[in-house]
Amino acid sequence: MEIAMVCTRVNLLILILSLCSPYKFIQSPMDFGPLNLLPTTTTASSDFGRILFHAPSAVLKPQAPRDISLLLSFLSASPLGKVTVAARGAGHSIHGQAQALDGIVVEMSSLPSEIEFHRGGEGDVSYADVSGGTMWIELLEQSLKLGLAPRSWTDYLYLTIGGTLSNAGISGQTFKHGPQISNVLQLEVVTGRGVIVTCSPTKDAELFNAVRGGLGQFGIITRARILLQEAPQKVKWVRAFYDDFGTFTKDQELLVSLPDLVDYVEGFIVLNEQSLHSSSIAFPANVNFNPDFGTKNSPKIYYCIEFAVHDYQNKNINVEQVVEVISRQMSHIVSHLYSVEVSYFDFLNRVRMEEMSLRNSGLWEVHHPWLNMFVPRAGINDFRDLLMDSISPDNFEGLILIYPLLRHKWDTNTSVVLPDSGSTDPVMYAVGILRSANPDDGCSHHCLQELLHHHRCLAATAATNLGAKQYLAHHPSPVGWHRHFGGWWERFAERKTRFDPLSILGPGQGIFPKGSYGAAYGSYS
Ligand code: FAD
Repeated sequence: MEIAMVCTRVNLLILILSLCSPYKFIQSPMDFGPLNLLPTTTTASSDFGRILFHAPSAVLKPQAPRDISLLLSFLSASPLGKVTVAARGAGHSIHGQAQALDGIVVEMSSLPSEIEFHRGGEGDVSYADVSGGTMWIELLEQSLKLGLAPRSWTDYLYLTIGGTLSNAGISGQTFKHGPQISNVLQLEVVTGRGVIVTCSPTKDAELFNAVRGGLGQFGIITRARILLQEAPQKVKWVRAFYDDFGTFTKDQELLVSLPDLVDYVEGFIVLNEQSLHSSSIAFPANVNFNPDFGTKNSPKIYYCIEFAVHDYQNKNINVEQVVEVISRQMSHIVSHLYSVEVSYFDFLNRVRMEEMSLRNSGLWEVHHPWLNMFVPRAGINDFRDLLMDSISPDNFEGLILIYPLLRHKWDTNTSVVLPDSGSTDPVMYAVGILRSANPDDGCSHHCLQELLHHHRCLAATAATNLGAKQYLAHHPSPVGWHRHFGGWWERFAERKTRFDPLSILGPGQGIFPKGSYGAAYGSYS
């Protein structure tokens, strides 16, 4: 054991020297003893966005949190070190957030993924202890065997626990249960100094708050305790169509005001035939909505609200009646409300079906210049107008999601950034412009750069004029990040100084460039 430790230390020292050297020594497969640092792979330098491809110098496949701790302890004890480290979950980021140019990528999926369940009794909560590298789909599959499931989700489940908790984790349940970061009871984190800490609201709360929504800047989440609830057997899944944006958002806000009846609320813009078709792939109802989309010069667009009611078949609730009661209060286009009952698993896993369809058409592994924003309620109409002024509905490829969130479900002690303006308004909106750009369809480098430029302009205008904030944010410079955090910058920077003072972690976010010591205290402005 002692010898193994010494070997590891020597190997790490060699690694640090190699990485700091102007000459790249690490170009062939190597084995750094028990730490097993591997040469880089194409996976480690790519992500779902397919926009940036930053190659690390090495990859760590940890077998236990201790491996990560060892790596970070060494790097943080090395004053010469320029080496950065990024945790990589499922790599479903858009802008290289989980990449580490010339640094080390830690593949979180290699941590053992066994899940431990605790079923609460009377007055006691149920939870699952799960590795940070486990995907939500695995947690769902295992917890359903016990009749349990997490309360708060993302639309797509092939994302890791650590990856979504580093952002927020939102979906149609967020209005009711808050984001995923509001549904975690405890975390095990390896800080940038290499210390393994178990933190919670009552123990090392500052670290617990920092890493939730912390963009991977303060520590690597190796284990999380996720709150569970009784899982419904089935879900009544409803879609209703609108031709007026104000009526669409008014009905969405009605739905989120009924948390005792409604379990999920989202919505999307129906821009063209293709968006109507692709959004129907997973929805197994016979949708007989054939609207007039107008002409290229005078397009007509529509909106669709999607909501769901859980069906606990062992409880005495008639979901048909519940949907009937709710829909009587709604103002959708007459006779264009469709509903279908599906298993809870199929409902939560609905995007997988879309993924399979896109994969079959070769449209999954294309560029994804996505933009996600939180928009204050007072600005949502203007945001819609800004967006519609800048896209052509007839050739937009992808999906535009819009749905309300309730502020009081968000814990402002976490590192997540919400719009400051409208902070007394209980409602804000999540907007996801989930665009695909297919090089085989003519959208290669130049076209992609134009789309990215357009999104940057839209995000900047929405931030300046409407007080909107990016979610899953990307800012090309630290100045942009400083603006993004606004009044929360000091707190974020202090947390960095405390938990990762050498700025080793999360280089792909570009918030604290390595070597900018002291920059944490606001010298960007
Ligand atoms: P990665 O992309 O691997 O990492 C993301 C960031 O987190 C990086 O900075 C990384 O260094 C850091 N990180 C990763 N693991 C850890 C860890 N264990 N500890 C500390 N830091 C870590 N998001 C939503 O909120 N709601 C949605 O409905 C939603 N739907 C999506 C659908 C699709 C098809 C895709 C591609 C993405 C979607 N996302 C959604 C976005 C998704 O939540 C983020 O991209 C998330 O980061 C992906 O998780 P990941 O495991 O792939 O993380």
